Amino acid sequence: MSAYRTINPTTGETLEEHPVIDDAAVEEILARSADEYARYRTLPLEQRTATLRRAAELFRERMPELAEILTVEMGKPTTQARGEVALVASIFEYYADNAARFLAEEELDIVGGGEARVRTEPIGALLGIMPWNYPYYQVARFAAPNLALGNTIVLKHARNCPRAALALERVLHDAGVPADAYINAFIDSGQVAGIIADDRIRGVSLTGSEAAGAAVGEVAGRHMKKYVLELGGSDPFIVLDDADIEAAVAAAVVGRFANGGQACTASKRFIVVDAVYDEFTRKFIEAVSKISVGDPTDPDTFLGPLSSTSASAELDEIVRDAVDKGATLYVGPQARPSAAFYPPTVLTEVTPEMRAYEEELFGPAAVVYRVASPQAAVQLANSSPFGLSSSIFTRDAALADTIAEQLEAGMVWINSTSKSAPDLPFGGVKRSGVGRELARFGIDEFANKKLVRVL
Ligand code: NDP
Repeated sequence: MSAYRTINPTTGETLEEHPVIDDAAVEEILARSADEYARYRTLPLEQRTATLRRAAELFRERMPELAEILTVEMGKPTTQARGEVALVASIFEYYADNAARFLAEEELDIVGGGEARVRTEPIGALLGIMPWNYPYYQVARFAAPNLALGNTIVLKHARNCPRAALALERVLHDAGVPADAYINAFIDSGQVAGIIADDRIRGVSLTGSEAAGAAVGEVAGRHMKKYVLELGGSDPFIVLDDADIEAAVAAAVVGRFANGGQACTASKRFIVVDAVYDEFTRKFIEAVSKISVGDPTDPDTFLGPLSSTSASAELDEIVRDAVDKGATLYVGPQARPSAAFYPPTVLTEVTPEMRAYEEELFGPAAVVYRVASPQAAVQLANSSPFGLSSSIFTRDAALADTIAEQLEAGMVWINSTSKSAPDLPFGGVKRSGVGRELARFGIDEFANKKLVRVL
């Protein structure tokens, strides 16, 4: 059972360490969360939403310190770290503002006469399992709607971001969320199956890898627990011959290289029709060569280190595999300050026998494909086992609409890369996951849609 550790990826220095909790502590936390649920769900909704509104204020007030934690703990450049905190504040505010509307009783039009209503009620204590790439945002998507609804939360964060996990818990408690309604717990993943099986836990939400999602989904299914899985993606970014190439290139750089490329909805496969392939690729490589790489605390840095040296080494294995099998490699000229840094990279001539064709590249390496037609672009886009988000760049609105319909994806963005906002549903199909987060959909995932029939 390895500890939770803050290791600054820029310097390699270990800054703090927390042991995982033992089974007796897990038992105590489950009891606290379930007991609190019985009380928390009966609080007036306005009381719960008032704490969420206060949490949003605190995220804004504490932005510099909260952002700095992300920069120190996982290397997120300062400007992007602040952007994450701002987004998180807006998610808490959104559910504070809209929960009453989302949770209002719904009258059904029924044939049989009499009255029928659907109430949206909480279901109980939930387990959240979250990753390190957006340590606050990933939790906010799950916690804000469920705290508004009246579910309580036990949160197991990733082993490499305990400082962010604790800072977020502190914000919620300082905002007035009862201590037992949101409990951060340094749980070992080996303890997770037992927690999901426990009768006191009524659902589980995981954001992370396919392997972790499959493990959690399997146990949840066996014990009839509701689950939401937000897993990987290999999002296509389709460029058609009438696209605004300058705009597409600018979007491609952000889409692939923001957050060190460590985002499930990062643009990962650039699928460009033949007529504009050379121009797009040339301009993209030119832009990639100018990305500012370096110290993530410098507000001008766009690409800092990856979250760890092992993340950088794993990405390199996939890139090497492609090059060994004949792919063409472009590596940016930027300096590589330490081993956790990965240079901005572009691969072309990638073929199906290469790992880069099918696997998720979780870092600053783009793959650019040449295709003959929009139909071939759709075919290649859909050949991935993933189906999270996608982008289409074209001036032809009707064609964009047709392609949007044909793409096997949970989200389609036209003339933009994928972005997250509180009021837009987020989630995927195929191996990218199960369920939806955010917007009104996010509050329904762990809800009891209770029918009340009056005759
Ligand atoms: P993981 O899926 O291993 O980690 C995410 C969370 O799941 C962590 O809290 C982790 O805990 C937990 N976890 C891992 N295995 C299990 C399990 N068997 N049962 C219960 N919980 C588990 O992601 P990694 O950090 O290892 O990253 C690996 C890859 O996953 C990335 O390269 C990327 O492809 C994908 N990923 C996708 C993300 C997304 O946003 N969709 C986010 C992060 C990763 P612990 O830290 O204790 O292992």
